[in-house]
Amino acid sequence: MATKLVQIEDDVEIKQRLEAERVRLRKIAGLDRPTHFHRPVERAFTAEERSKVTILFGGFTWKHEDLIRAVFQGCGYRCEKLPVPDVPAFQIGKEYGNNGQCNPTYFTVGNLVQYLQFLEKEGISRQDILNNYVFFTAGSCGPCRFGMYEAEYRFALKNAGFDGFRVLLFKDSDGIKAASGEPGLKFTIDFGFGMLNALLMGDVFNDLIYQIRPFETNKGETDRVFRETVDSLCDDLKNRDSFEIEQRAPDWAKPKFKSNKILRNTFNVFGKMHEHMWGKDILNALGSAREKMNAIEVDRTKVKPVAKITGEFWAQTTEGDGNFHMFEFLEREGAQVLVEPIATWVAYLLYQAKAHAKAKWPVNRPHRDPKWWELKKNLVNEMGLRKKMLGIGAGQVMWNYFYHRTARNLGGITHHLVNQKELAALAHPFYNQFARGGEGHLEVGKNVYYTVHHLCHMVLALKPFGCMPSSQSDGVQSAVVNKFKDMIFLPIETSGEGEVNAHSRVQMALGEAKVKAKTEFEQCLKMTGKSLDEIKEYIAEHPELKRPFYQVPHREGIAGTAAQFILHVSDRMDKSTKLWRRARVPDVAVPNAA
Ligand code: SF4
Repeated sequence: MATKLVQIEDDVEIKQRLEAERVRLRKIAGLDRPTHFHRPVERAFTAEERSKVTILFGGFTWKHEDLIRAVFQGCGYRCEKLPVPDVPAFQIGKEYGNNGQCNPTYFTVGNLVQYLQFLEKEGISRQDILNNYVFFTAGSCGPCRFGMYEAEYRFALKNAGFDGFRVLLFKDSDGIKAASGEPGLKFTIDFGFGMLNALLMGDVFNDLIYQIRPFETNKGETDRVFRETVDSLCDDLKNRDSFEIEQRAPDWAKPKFKSNKILRNTFNVFGKMHEHMWGKDILNALGSAREKMNAIEVDRTKVKPVAKITGEFWAQTTEGDGNFHMFEFLEREGAQVLVEPIATWVAYLLYQAKAHAKAKWPVNRPHRDPKWWELKKNLVNEMGLRKKMLGIGAGQVMWNYFYHRTARNLGGITHHLVNQKELAALAHPFYNQFARGGEGHLEVGKNVYYTVHHLCHMVLALKPFGCMPSSQSDGVQSAVVNKFKDMIFLPIETSGEGEVNAHSRVQMALGEAKVKAKTEFEQCLKMTGKSLDEIKEYIAEHPELKRPFYQVPHREGIAGTAAQFILHVSDRMDKSTKLWRRARVPDVAVPNAA
């Protein structure tokens, strides 16, 4: 039977019917009452629990994690690092997490659940796990899925039966304050400077290990020495005595510090700061680490393409299934990996904070549109901006200083932090620096920077499956590659599957990079006018050239370590020939003089 259509000609009736239908549907969906999301109120981690609760954390390289754990332990906390996330962890993350997340979410969330399940299998009851463990992680307000991590952890933990497990947040938007709000986890000068040192040392060790290992003469030596070095620095961080003015002051001054809290606290702040950054203990520890690493024998004449790693923060940092063990694979295939320090990310955040403050100042300034004669208002506006710029600028200077100082104390060959202003300027024609989320403009900026400055033979961007900002910058990279014709750029989408496919794509790009590195080396060798055997002979006679911390001056326009090295050795050989010539009687001919 045909349905009879009722024609409605009156607009008002259409609107009324629509409204009635909307009300009906909202009621069915449970949206008829205004509801707001409220962050769940969590059981606090209290100071009394400190001695029995273990803080779990993870997500960095083993060097960073070991040092961070040592700082936690040195400050009196029980602390354990989570294992490197693997494919089973990814699958657990998918099982218990929401649909449609980016894969770092699945890897990291699943990793936590997997570890708690492991504790349960070891015989610890679920209730004891809830009471005696907490998870410490970074959080953010977005705009990418990073802003959802906290909710994702809670959701997956609940689904896996660990409802009520505590997740402590350290937000990149409000720093350590968020964590210090938890009475069990207290921010102190020792904790803050200890963490700063751990992070910087972790970055420097990570950079060094990838610079030294490809050139080691004795296979396995770099890994062994770095393991020992990091372990001994961890012991130092764990067991170092905290600076207390009441103990260090001369006897006559001790009562003064005891009775005057303000005086005691002021001296303690500066004393602790000095002890952590310039103290004898830390400098001695770094000195002995430097000596151990410098004893590794290297042969820098091995020709290797330099592969610069960029991409999403987690995918370019993890050393496991999360990025298909990419660094290990690249080294096995004969490449030298140029990793990214976490310090670049902090430098980026500081730079962006400054740029945003400046761009938003016309809206945020205290007095809107003052007339030119309203001098006081104009002055207040001007000073307000300057104060803000000065504060962030001071943070930038200190961050750069501390990073490069750590690098100098650990051998001085670590790559410097790239100038953020230059990165933004290079990226800007392709990617607006105010487009936030993920690595923002950094992926594009680094690709251009490392190519135009000839600092690598290829750029490999590791991008997680489902990552929104990475997909955005990927679209832009095709315009970048079109502009810089000699650029070898390869974006690899990382996920829980597809390792073989990803490796074979990298192998192809690496093949091109190898040709580039070899050609560059041959041209440099030709420029020296010497044979490789002559250069090697000279190196054999000068053992300092086999030490990793021997400083090879950087020549513009050359990316390869071996090419840089032979040019430098050749210069040294020429110099010694000239000196030898000068020392001889003038009429004596110099054999093989260039
Ligand atoms: S940057 Fe990408 S992968 Fe990382 S949290 Fe954001 S959306 Fe996920």
